[in-house]
Amino acid sequence: MRIGFIGLGQMGFPMFGNLSKQHANTIGFDGSPELNTKLRQTTSQHGLNIASSLLDLQDADVIITMLPHGKAVRACLFEGDNTLALVTRLAKKAIIIDMSSSSPLDTIELASDLKNRGMSLIDAPVSGSVPKAAAGTLSIMAGGDDELIESVMPLLEAMGKTIIRTGKVGSAHGMKALNNYVYAAGLLAASEALMLGKALDLNLDTLVDVLNASSGRNVATETKLKQHMLDGGDFKAGFGLHLMAKDLGIAHGLNTHAGFTPPQLTLCYELWQEACQQMPSIADNTEIYRFLETKLQLPQHA
Ligand code: NAD
Repeated sequence: MRIGFIGLGQMGFPMFGNLSKQHANTIGFDGSPELNTKLRQTTSQHGLNIASSLLDLQDADVIITMLPHGKAVRACLFEGDNTLALVTRLAKKAIIIDMSSSSPLDTIELASDLKNRGMSLIDAPVSGSVPKAAAGTLSIMAGGDDELIESVMPLLEAMGKTIIRTGKVGSAHGMKALNNYVYAAGLLAASEALMLGKALDLNLDTLVDVLNASSGRNVATETKLKQHMLDGGDFKAGFGLHLMAKDLGIAHGLNTHAGFTPPQLTLCYELWQEACQQMPSIADNTEIYRFLETKLQLPQHA
């Protein structure tokens, strides 16, 4: 099976590395010319195969995308005139696996457009952040035809430890958006608890120990507070604040289909959009804490 992997950013590059180790016939590409050139120059001695252009992936049987959002996935498949678009060059039976956190609405539309060309789409977003991407232990949600997913299972297993089938195409992206809402709400609540703890002169290290030994525990309390946010933390957990805001936009946008508006999701969505506008474009998701300190005019950092 020839595999093309598009999007070699914070998550995509380690995923591509793990895939290449088990499937030598893998070729990667990133749309940033600077990053793509740098990777071409630095990785060939490690056995990684980086393309010089997107069209070098045209012989692939499977295209995997790990991009910021579904619009970028569509762009890299369909951009260019008729003969230059990747989708016109791929084999008729090519399989596209979108591992980005895309909107399920974009995904359903893309699946239909690809089906008209004889191609198939699987949505397979991931959870687990950069360390799990590097270790090949991501959680992967997979939506689409069962037989099709089975046929690419060795590829998913090269990148993830837990693979959960979610149902029809688009269902995995729907569940990923909801997962990220629950994570964002947990991080927000944990950040507010730290700020309140500081104002009450509580020992914040001990507060985190209490949360982690108690019912307030969540992924943010376990893997973000002490590791990246307290005691002059680096605020570099490897997941962009703008991507979190995008995911909340996706979850919030599902309201129109659900027919109701959950109040806490709306609050979370609005706070993150405001943070996204005010923080630098490279801000990490953990910097929601710094944003809240500024918004509430508190002394900076725990
Ligand atoms: P990133 O910004 O580090 O990487 C995205 C890469 O895509 C960049 O290198 C960029 O140059 C490239 N790109 C953008 N548009 C392109 C195009 N049209 N064609 C080709 N390449 C293009 O982002 P990331 O943190 O690796 O996240 C990727 C996806 O995974 C996002 O959808 C994100 O929400 C999701 N995600 C991220 C994490 C995390 O912890 N970082 C965890 C789970 C899921």
